[in-house]
Amino acid sequence: MTTALIFNNNHYLHNDPSSERRYKGRGPFNDERKERIDELRKELKARYVFENPTINVLKEERLPTLEELTRVHDPKYLEELEFLSYLEEATEDPPSRKFFEEKEGTYFTEHTYTAALSAAGASIELAEHVARNSGTNGFALVRPPGHHTRKDKAAGFCFLNNVALAARAVQALGIERVFIFDFDVHHGDGTESIFENDRSVFYCSTHQHGTDKEGDLLYPGTGAATNGNKFIKNIPLRAGIGNETYEDLVRKEVLPTIKKYKPGIILVSAGFDLHRDDPVKEIPTKVTATGFRKTTRMLLDTAADVCDGKLVYFLEGGYNTRALSKSVYACINELSSTKTLYQTPEETTDLAHRV
Ligand SMILES: [Zn+2]
Repeated sequence: MTTALIFNNNHYLHNDPSSERRYKGRGPFNDERKERIDELRKELKARYVFENPTINVLKEERLPTLEELTRVHDPKYLEELEFLSYLEEATEDPPSRKFFEEKEGTYFTEHTYTAALSAAGASIELAEHVARNSGTNGFALVRPPGHHTRKDKAAGFCFLNNVALAARAVQALGIERVFIFDFDVHHGDGTESIFENDRSVFYCSTHQHGTDKEGDLLYPGTGAATNGNKFIKNIPLRAGIGNETYEDLVRKEVLPTIKKYKPGIILVSAGFDLHRDDPVKEIPTKVTATGFRKTTRMLLDTAADVCDGKLVYFLEGGYNTRALSKSVYACINELSSTKTLYQTPEETTDLAHRV
């Protein structure tokens, strides 16, 4: 098994240091900013991932074509993003920035669309690579993320729906059924809405759901439990969930659904804001890198059973850069099926104190 990795190397163009905010007294944090990828790249380098012979780092080769983009997104919406980029260049207090802040607190600069296009292109490139090559899996280390983007609306730090574009790209190569598993702590409302009437893509998500103490809906407010009708399965998480309980949930609820659907490939919206130390989620969790590692192992085994091991991760959320880096490393380490090189202190702790 070879693990292909891809970065969108110009992701740093989408960056706004003034976007650092405080979330309900939980202190400052790096929200959807360039440090997320910078830090995890450093972590992977320090752990010799790029020297591992089973890792293949793909060159980011191209931007998506208009045809590829319009398989998912409304052409008018794409025009709007391009138009807003020009406005941003031309004005000091751009309406585009205001437009996005009012909607979801999502910043937009003159380079945002360029970075989003490259993230989408890299995601498509990787998915096609795995679809074409037997015995490969992969991880797209891209930003901005995508799973809140609807066909005609940006939201929640997302502008183009990377995983949805990847799903359509592999279908264009002849894979009929695609299974998307989304473990970001937020429901992938954009992805669900894109495929809700489409039997050829199954969307399954675990996420926070319900209301906080003030009665406000937890972001994004969608994702009530479903029983798998219409090829959607939503599994709200209970507060305080830990590694073993999460692994159990995946084993009992997600894996049998994949096996029943018999997809030709499994795509994963990998959001690490489910991590115990992530500041953006609104429910407490105890999930750590160990949980992500073990979940990855289960998905690999299932992919080997149903679709020739074809499994591709796409980075979504994850805003504590240390937790993000360790967790992504744990997943890549597992995907590449190498001997575990090390365990993070948090992983060791978890093994000793099962939650
Ligand atoms: Zn999220």
